[in-house]
Amino acid sequence: MTDAGRVVIVGGGHNGLVCAAWLARAGRKVLVLEAADQVGGAAVTREFSPGFRVSSGAHLLHALDPVVERTLKLASHGLALARTGLNTVALGEGGPLVLNGAQVLAGEVSATDRLALAQHVSRQRRYAALLARQHGRIPSTPWNLAKFALDIRRLGRADMRELLRVGTMPLYDLLEDRFENAQLKGALALDGVLGAKLGPRSGQTFFTSLQRAGAYSMPRGGMGTVTGALAIAARAAGAEIRVSSPVASFRVATREDGGEHISGVVLESGEEVAAAVVVSNADPKTTFLRLLGARHLDAEFARRVQHFRAQGCAAKLHLALDGLPEFRGVPPAQLGERLIIAPDLGYIEAAFNPAKYREFSPAPVLEITVPSLHDPGLAPPGKQVLSAIVQYAPYDLAGGWDAGRPHLLAATLDVLARYAPGLRGRILDAELLTPVDLEREFRITGGHWHHGELALDQFMMLRPVPGAAQYATPLPGLYLCGAGSHPGGGVMGSAGRNAARVVLAGGRV
Ligand SMILES: Cc1cc2nc3c(=O)[nH]c(=O)nc-3n(C[C@H](O)[C@H](O)[C@H](O)COP(=O)(O)OP(=O)(O)OC[C@H]3O[C@@H](n4cnc5c(N)ncnc54)[C@H](O)[C@@H]3O)c2cc1C
Repeated sequence: MTDAGRVVIVGGGHNGLVCAAWLARAGRKVLVLEAADQVGGAAVTREFSPGFRVSSGAHLLHALDPVVERTLKLASHGLALARTGLNTVALGEGGPLVLNGAQVLAGEVSATDRLALAQHVSRQRRYAALLARQHGRIPSTPWNLAKFALDIRRLGRADMRELLRVGTMPLYDLLEDRFENAQLKGALALDGVLGAKLGPRSGQTFFTSLQRAGAYSMPRGGMGTVTGALAIAARAAGAEIRVSSPVASFRVATREDGGEHISGVVLESGEEVAAAVVVSNADPKTTFLRLLGARHLDAEFARRVQHFRAQGCAAKLHLALDGLPEFRGVPPAQLGERLIIAPDLGYIEAAFNPAKYREFSPAPVLEITVPSLHDPGLAPPGKQVLSAIVQYAPYDLAGGWDAGRPHLLAATLDVLARYAPGLRGRILDAELLTPVDLEREFRITGGHWHHGELALDQFMMLRPVPGAAQYATPLPGLYLCGAGSHPGGGVMGSAGRNAARVVLAGGRV
């Protein structure tokens, strides 16, 4: 048993590290306990085959909180970008369509669609900027709600009306209404469904697409460089970080008046660490149901946590390649961009359908990168690494993933082969991480990359559940700081920063 004056942070994912750095900079004594043998959570770089390294969870940076990046001076701690402003290369039977924001760089797109794209992207950016301002605020305090309302009002009458109309709309309807080109509609729809258990016809996919309205970058050295820089910033501010230190449970003490409060953590090794404040970077189900235990919670609160939707629907594919892959119609200069296989709205919705019935898609939707093209250090000389999100692989697969994994791998390689016929012959090694593998590797209940579905009923003052939506929890001294809190997943750091501010304010917001 040690020092009770410090803050223990359970988990060294990027949000835990941001929280640690913020608290240490404010003079708090901080100890981060990370279960894995390296920090970073789902934003790490690791070897998946001898000599081949990859960002094994998140692979594109598009939402990093600029306040975090600036305040923690991440560039001076080693964060460098191998590429910024990646194009999206939407693969299709008739050749690729190349987009960068509102610009069509290649592909047959009518003047009407080009104009519609410019209007769509510009409006999306205004709405996304409004949400981004909200990301850095503690949700639902009267003052912040007033600021949110004012931000919406400032959009102006036309934009405000349109936001009210489309805010909860399925992207399918919106895109059908605005565009003609099927490939363009597919490409735009992908951002609303990637990482979610939603298809383009699902309600609120316009809202989810706003979370991915930023430009795509690739950190040099993979996503581990981002979390490596955060760890350096946290240590430089005085935080202590211990890896290979899984926490088994929280310690709870009883006050004289009978009320309970947190008093520390117990590691799986049996070691106990006393602390008046514990901040959990683990997902809400792990935090409340496993580490704390429902017996310390109000029954209604525990029921809400139990019903927090947190089943992942995306898998991750890593290929070690004997050389450059060739995608039909894609010039070598475009190979290092963000390649997607989402050729039209019907294809994406059809890929989603089996997931509703606990089956994976025989023709999944893919987001593909070849990071070694920008960052040769990730693969041996002359070799390449391919990293792909495989969308529509439900966590609760009927028959289980031990049986399903080789079949999903075969289906994914079949889809890739349609666009890259020679790819199979170049594969030296392959790794497919299903949601069950992601759950095990990153300790995320359900393997969901946002720690829980990002949807309007699990957003802002409702995230993860009322009673814990402002980072403080019903148990005095216990806080949340991970993707299960506002504003959700993606490598942003806003949840960690907001949580630290609430801890520093003594839980009051
Ligand atoms: C396959 C995949 C692809 C993704 N792609 C992208 C992408 O391209 N771009 C993007 O921005 N985002 C992407 N994401 C989402 C992003 O990676 C996550 O939302 C983000 O990493 C969450 O960060 P976090 O710090 O909140 O939690 P995590 O990264 O989940 O970190 C939580 C940490 O807590 C630790 N922990 C849990 N329980 C314990 C315990 N009992 N004791 C000690 N430690 C514990 C875990 O080991 C982990 O290190 C992707 C995620 C996945 C899984």
